[in-house]
Amino acid sequence: MFSVATSEVLLKMNVEEVESARGKSLYRVDEFMYEVEKTREGKLFCRCIRKKKDNCLARAVIIKDPHPIVVKMNREHNHGDERRDRIMRTVRVNMKKTALSRPDKTIREVYNEVLAKTAQDLQPTLDPEELDAALPQFSGVRSAIQRTRAKFRSRLSASLADLTHSQEGWTTIKEEQFPLLNDSSSEKILGL
Ligand SMILES: [Zn+2]
Repeated sequence: MFSVATSEVLLKMNVEEVESARGKSLYRVDEFMYEVEKTREGKLFCRCIRKKKDNCLARAVIIKDPHPIVVKMNREHNHGDERRDRIMRTVRVNMKKTALSRPDKTIREVYNEVLAKTAQDLQPTLDPEELDAALPQFSGVRSAIQRTRAKFRSRLSASLADLTHSQEGWTTIKEEQFPLLNDSSSEKILGL
């Protein structure tokens, strides 16, 4: 049995538009993820991202006004919400570990590598939509990985004279240049 949510309950729901790792627009309603199945007259008709994998029939109708709100919900989820959080945590831990064990790799390379490995490992058990929703975006983990690296780097010494600006134009998303350290074998990014 399931109860139909009243409008009062719907208004209290925490709704957020989330861009997946592949750039697809998804909606998080409380702790569950939804994908848009169709749009009609400004209403987004969404289904649980575990529809395909687990045949979860939970649905939500969302409007953007301009922030997304749920106007209708149907059916309960036939699963818990724990999986996405667990995947997200594991990925973050692996990214930090890789950032330390492979100081020769840039943060972007660490991110790409761990993401690809995780996707490969989980592909047999998750459908692509759920996997996509569970993997963090680069912007979401970049600073955490940088902080892990910074703690490690503070134990190393580097003189300012070793720093050069890249000729090739390494820049941050804010168009600032990275200081680079040329340590004789290859250029290494020092950070911001
Ligand atoms: Zn569901």
